[in-house]
Amino acid sequence: MSARRPFDSLQFAKSGESLKGTLRVEELPRLSDSLRPEDVAVQYRLDGVLASGRPALRLKVEARVWLTCQLCMSLYPEMLSLDTVLPVARNEAELARWESLDPMLDALVADPGLDVAVLVEDEILLAIPLVPMHPEGECDPAGLALVGKN
Ligand SMILES: [Zn+2]
Repeated sequence: MSARRPFDSLQFAKSGESLKGTLRVEELPRLSDSLRPEDVAVQYRLDGVLASGRPALRLKVEARVWLTCQLCMSLYPEMLSLDTVLPVARNEAELARWESLDPMLDALVADPGLDVAVLVEDEILLAIPLVPMHPEGECDPAGLALVGKN
């Protein structure tokens, strides 16, 4: 199965199949601010699993993203290592029912032509912090001095 061929998400979830591969930076246009050509590739693995009796996609993603620290305004790389289980509802009505039981549920509606790149982009965008910051003590002193000057 070609990594980039659209696939039926519900059928994949039920089949217990696995799919893994890499996506190039240019295949993830919504992440063009956060990925750089030298990041080479985002690795992913997708498995069809059962989660609480529901067919689900388990998505693991390894990616290095570049974020702008909001304290010193310099770019820094952050490794993302994501492992998400996304139940797949048959339709909107089923999704609404699941969400009424569990408002925090992160679920998908069945898509007969899901593109794994879109799914990977969504998960990376969700994982990027709203206010990126270096770990404490790792800010760029030059950047801090510059920011402090105004
Ligand atoms: Zn910083």
